[in-house]
Order: sequence, then C-alpha cells, then structure tokens
Amino acid sequence: MSKRDYYDVLGVAKGASAEEIKKAYRKLAIKYHPDKNPDDKSAEDKFKEAAEAYEVLSSAEKKQRYDQFGHAGVGGAAGGGGYGGGGMNMEDIFSQFGDIFGGGGGSPFDSFFGGGGQSRGGRRVAKGSNLRIKVKLTLEEIANGAEKKIKVNKQVSCKTCDGTGAKDKSSVSTCSTCGGAGSVRRVTNTILGQMQTTATCPTCHGSGQQITAKCGACHGEGTVRGEETITINIPAGVSEGMQLSMAGKGNAAPNGGVPGDLIILIEETPHETLKREGNNVVYDLHVSIPDAALGASVEVPTIDGKAKIKIEPGTQSGKLLRLKGKGIPEVNSYHRGDQIIHVNIWTPKALNSEERALLEKLRESANFKPQPGKNDKSFFDKMKEYFE
Ligand SMILES: [Zn+2]
Ligand SMILES: [Zn+2]
Repeated sequence: MSKRDYYDVLGVAKGASAEEIKKAYRKLAIKYHPDKNPDDKSAEDKFKEAAEAYEVLSSAEKKQRYDQFGHAGVGGAAGGGGYGGGGMNMEDIFSQFGDIFGGGGGSPFDSFFGGGGQSRGGRRVAKGSNLRIKVKLTLEEIANGAEKKIKVNKQVSCKTCDGTGAKDKSSVSTCSTCGGAGSVRRVTNTILGQMQTTATCPTCHGSGQQITAKCGACHGEGTVRGEETITINIPAGVSEGMQLSMAGKGNAAPNGGVPGDLIILIEETPHETLKREGNNVVYDLHVSIPDAALGASVEVPTIDGKAKIKIEPGTQSGKLLRLKGKGIPEVNSYHRGDQIIHVNIWTPKALNSEERALLEKLRESANFKPQPGKNDKSFFDKMKEYFE
C-alpha cells in the first residue's frame, strides 16, 4: 500500500505555513480521536496517518527532506525504520498533544481522558496526598506573626531512584496495556445499549509507563517515609480553627508525580491573663478600694509587654479603659484591634481589727454611700460602646 502525500493527508497546500499545518492537524486529531470513534479501525488509521504527516511537516528539517525526496526522504517508503509500516505508536501521537493544544489544562482531550488528577499530554500524573498538621500559637505570636520550623513525618521522594520507582533508566518502558496513553477504553453493555467509557489504565495507573525492575530502596513506589523540616510563615492575626495551605509541601506522589499540599490548622494557646475577643484583647484589672478612690498608676500586661496606665481618682468598678492599637492585627491589613481594660475594685475577703475599725468609720461617711448619677452608663451600654 503506497502512502498518501502528507499535504493531502492534512488537506493543506504545499506552501502552507506552520500555523496552517498545526491547525489542520488539530482538526483531524479531534475528528478521528479513538475516544470519539470507538472500535472504528478506519478512524484509527486516519488518526495515525494525520499524526505521522504532522510529525514530519511540523519539523522544518524533516519537511525540507520530504519536500525534496518524498517519503523516502523521511524513511517512510522503505518500510524499514522511521515511520514506515505501522506508522507512529500511540505514545508518540499523544506526546504531540502538549505541542498542538498548549499542554496541560484546557486541552480538549482532558475530557476524553476522564479528568481527575493533572494531565501531561493526556496522561495522568499522580498527586500526593495532603498532609494536615496542627500548629499551636501564643497570643503574642498571633499578634506579631510567627515563623515556625516544624519537622514533619511524611512520604518523601526516594533519593535512590529520584522518585521514579525504577531500578535504573533502562527499567522504564512504555506501558504495554495502554501503549503509553495512560488510559484505556472500556465498552460495557447497559440497558441503553453499549456505553463507552475511558478509564485510567489499571497497569500503569495513568502514568503511561511501566517499570520492569523496581528500585530496591522504595520497592518501586518512588516515595519513602522520611522527615522534612518545613518553615511556615504564619501571618499576624490568624485565629483558632483557621487553615493555611502550602502547595506542594504535603506527601510526595508515587512515581514522580505532583506532591500534595500541607494544610496547617491553627490552634491558640490561651494566654494567662489576656483574653482575645475578635481583634481586641481584654484584660480584667483589679484595683484596691484606696487606689480607685485616690487614683493611682498601675501596671498592666499587654501583648507587647508591660504598660503603665492611670487610674483616675473616683474610678468606678466596671469602668472600661482602652489602649488603642494594642490588640491583634487583622490578617493582611494594617488595622489593629485595641486592648480593653475592665476595671474591678478589689474587696478584701478578710479584715484585721484595725482595718475593720477604719472601714466602720468610713461607712458612716456620706461620700461612701453609693450615689449613681444619670451619667453613669450601665454595663450593657459600656459593652455596646466598646465592642460594636
Ligand atoms: Zn526508589
Ligand atoms: Zn498503562
């Protein structure tokens, strides 16, 4: 059987540009793709014929030899070697798709190959599983952001075989089940008639490759149990239950695939004295009766260390004071919450006789009788003012 002229196969003129050749081939590849023409031998032959023609005409060097010497110039006529006889195999053809469809996602073939996972030129690439870890942070770390170096146990790429799972280069070959396509077609009988589905190749699990001799270190898996110290930069303002994700820091994938992600779950370690309320920090301050009545300067803890605050003479219990900007920053923002100080007047639980005598005297004083005025806000009003 003599070969058809490559220009005729693609339906382009002899002087066609590289772009026209590519376009013509893309059209034929879609039209005659085996997944669209199940069990159609003539479509498969046309698919292969078009791929062969494109293989030659898309290469400047081969095209020149073909133009000059015909099929003999590219080893096609003699049948020995090159692309004579059976033409290209499926693996060669599918490897062209990255070229004509711009590779990766968005290729019209993604849907033909049943989706799921990432595809490289139509073949599926295994993805490692995600790894979840918990990171405990103090309130100070949350307020300032933190860099955490964490040692994680996970599947890492095997160093012996570089993640391929193969003993050496010569022990990797094209998968014999799928011919390197990574997928197989299945025809099943249903009440609606024959249904054709495309499934991931059971032999190579979509990689298109088969390993004849396994790497001894990882038993052919391409990954081994190991540890990695990962530096995690946690932005200021995170909160309990928040999840951060680091792409590619999860478990390594078998046979050189794409590693999974590291999911970091944030946990807050409760602070000894400060309580977080959204982006504000609340502190319960206790002052003595004399300090509240006479006024005083007292020290309070903040997330940035100790601070001195002034207690005005005649301060009532329940008064709320505000330290502006001493709270928690919002994630990815310059806005920062405040520290709210809730003033409590400390009443002694036990008295000696001298103290008792003094207080008995004060009890008689008119100034010590409660005299709430119109301007004294209720607790509810104060909460509203500070937290809304
Ligand atoms: Zn290995
Ligand atoms: Zn296979």
